[in-house]
Amino acid sequence: MSSMFTVRKSTAYLVVHCSATQPKMDIGAKEIRQWHREKGWIDIGYHFVIRRDGKVEIGRPENVVGAHVENHNSNSIGICLVGGVDANLKPENNFTPAQFAALALKLHELKQKYPNVTVQGHRDFPGVKKDCPSFDTRKWIKDTGVFTETAEPIKLDNDGLIIRCIEVTAANPTLFSLAKRFGYTAAELQKANPFVDPTQLKVGQLIRLPD
Ligand SMILES: [Zn+2]
Repeated sequence: MSSMFTVRKSTAYLVVHCSATQPKMDIGAKEIRQWHREKGWIDIGYHFVIRRDGKVEIGRPENVVGAHVENHNSNSIGICLVGGVDANLKPENNFTPAQFAALALKLHELKQKYPNVTVQGHRDFPGVKKDCPSFDTRKWIKDTGVFTETAEPIKLDNDGLIIRCIEVTAANPTLFSLAKRFGYTAAELQKANPFVDPTQLKVGQLIRLPD
């Protein structure tokens, strides 16, 4: 079956998409694969699908040409977040914290593998009329510090207490963003929290700071 695919010769972009489905639709790679095959495609167009609960599912093999962005399928990897439209099918950023955490981890992992890639949303390519993925991917990357390994430590405000924990917030939903905000690396935070699953962070959850 893999003989139907064309191996990709270069990888210049990681492209973030959405499935343009309502948040109540708990679908994944299986359903999208079926929709794309019904269009006559050989397989699902994306390489990865991130479900509402943050679970990452495999679409097309990572090393082959996908079908998700005009003019750039031969040099990009497509990642699709499930969701992205409201009840009237209008674009809406309604992705879950678990999805953003999983996206951060997947992008981080892929960037290690393909260090020179540009990471952007589908709509950031010239001539795209759609709003996919319903949020500003480049701004999100900048704000959350997905690719930032270190930052200047900030002075923690305390009244004589030793602050040992920080809280997961909507603005800092991933270990990467927390690390950037508080001047650590994501690896240091993970080491200090060996039992924390970085793909399952919840707003309000406390993260231990390294000693
Ligand atoms: Zn798209």
